[in-house]
Amino acid sequence: MKAVAVHPGKAGSAHLADIPEPSLSDVPDGRGVLVRILRVGLDGTDREINAAEYGIAPDGADYLVLGHESFGVVEQVGPAVTEFSPGDYVVARVRRAGTSVYDDIDLPDLTTDDSYFEHGISRVHGFLTERYVEEPRYLIRVPRALREVGVLLEPLSVAEKGILQAYEIQRRLKVWWPRRAAVLGAGTVGLLATIALRTRGLDVTTYGLTPRPYLNSDLVEAVGARYVSTQQTPLADDAAAHGPHDLVFEATGYSPIVFDAMCHLVAKNGVLVLASVTGGMRRSEVPSDAINLDFVLGNKVMFGTVNASREHFEAGVRDMAVAESAYPGWLARLLTHPVDGLDRYADALALLGAAGVIKTYIDVARDE
Ligand code: BGC
Ligand code: ZN
Repeated sequence: MKAVAVHPGKAGSAHLADIPEPSLSDVPDGRGVLVRILRVGLDGTDREINAAEYGIAPDGADYLVLGHESFGVVEQVGPAVTEFSPGDYVVARVRRAGTSVYDDIDLPDLTTDDSYFEHGISRVHGFLTERYVEEPRYLIRVPRALREVGVLLEPLSVAEKGILQAYEIQRRLKVWWPRRAAVLGAGTVGLLATIALRTRGLDVTTYGLTPRPYLNSDLVEAVGARYVSTQQTPLADDAAAHGPHDLVFEATGYSPIVFDAMCHLVAKNGVLVLASVTGGMRRSEVPSDAINLDFVLGNKVMFGTVNASREHFEAGVRDMAVAESAYPGWLARLLTHPVDGLDRYADALALLGAAGVIKTYIDVARDE
């Protein structure tokens, strides 16, 4: 079957490959689920992998099939599968279990192993292909009514994890009533964090670079959040007028802004969530005494978050359903750039990071 693969470490190596068909018996004890892939979203991680800045092939392979934002339909199940039936829509989790205690309790997103396993990213093939076979525990059911937007579940799960972990951490305060939140970045993850925080009733400000109005700022405003261009209004000035924020979610991909956020955005007892994967070598000079003092005297927390576990995917499904009923059609507006068929993978890769693009995805197969 067809697949879009790269040779990790070799820039611009994305190509169409012919790989073996998976089989139900690849999973032991009759527990296999065969999924036909319908759509796969692409993001900056795929761009970095094709630029040879990131990505590792599975053991013994010289290629890695790309794609970690999947959406598909169950075609067949093994005799011992009770969780899924043919016709169910599913999204696959990205990370597989490694060897740490966190992996043992099905939280591979919290692994302490140095080598981690992520479909389409690290040591496991991805979903830019036609079919895959998976164990039920790595699959998340998506209701039929969400099938048009189900491909957004993986990036949403990343936002959900950051937010849910923030709430979990804030239990230290015995009582925490967050009212104001700031989201840094108005790309896919920033927009999804914005709606996830809005559906929880927070007053949200989302910061992007581009001056409003444009699609991303329209989307922010459509869910009752404020959009602010940091090109027009420095973070510090806006925060002085509209801050500080009980929860700050960073998803710009630009690491220096983290220190601006630490200086200006976080309220006393507040929490700053770092969710950007920044593979570069950037350095910045920061007012370390002031930041440190402020965090100490304000009992503030900053933490990093990567990937997501089952509960975050499931929270994402629920939030998608809430979003669809509160703001019908909003999620679908993020799906700006469909590309038809695996053969046109190069068009999809070329769209990543281009102006006006929120989500690029490949329509792998029709949903009949
Ligand atoms: C993916 C995550 C993954 C992270 C680090 C992101 O693009 O969406 O699932 O954990 O990259 O590899
Ligand atoms: Zn991703």
